[in-house]
Amino acid sequence: MDSINKLTELFRKFPTVGSRTAGRFVYYLMKLPKERIDELTSAIQELKNKIKLCQLCFQPFEANEIVSGSPRPAELCAICSDTRRDKNLLCIVEKETDLLSIENTKKYNGLYFILGGTVAMMRKEDISQLRIEELKKRVKDGNFSEIIIALNPTPEGRTTSVLVEQTIKEINQNSKITHLARGIPVGGELEYTDEETLESALEGRK
Ligand SMILES: [Zn+2]
Repeated sequence: MDSINKLTELFRKFPTVGSRTAGRFVYYLMKLPKERIDELTSAIQELKNKIKLCQLCFQPFEANEIVSGSPRPAELCAICSDTRRDKNLLCIVEKETDLLSIENTKKYNGLYFILGGTVAMMRKEDISQLRIEELKKRVKDGNFSEIIIALNPTPEGRTTSVLVEQTIKEINQNSKITHLARGIPVGGELEYTDEETLESALEGRK
């Protein structure tokens, strides 16, 4: 495969990028001066070298970032290593952007767990895409008084919520399991829900 086709193929795999856009990216890059290309390639390299996944919630974070003047444990993100957060509360979300949406409401002070996706059916090969084993470990080690399942109210989100609830109950019967209150439109996604609606869904959880 020649370099143009190879690069087009790589860009085509990016979210929301189709073959046409991928082609445009390649032709755009061809016109850039060498310094800009070097800048771009080293930024991509750095992303892989500096960004780590939090060992507790699986949020990506900049490894050598310093929080409130003191370095924190190398394996934990800013939220998980923040002693002011409520360690009795765990909120399970599908993806990083959902975590950010909930953080933006400023109404939640507990911890998170990023599941890494949702499934349409309870098929083994689909379920294996999710962090179910990691979740079991987290629930076992965490000793949470409440676990909030905050998945999107889409069919996939609901199927996955059932799976997550079963998983938690197998490990631990002491944690209270809650769900976001209705209010987020059916089929809607946390990411696109306005702060006020998300806030009341969070406060009205049951
Ligand atoms: Zn974390």
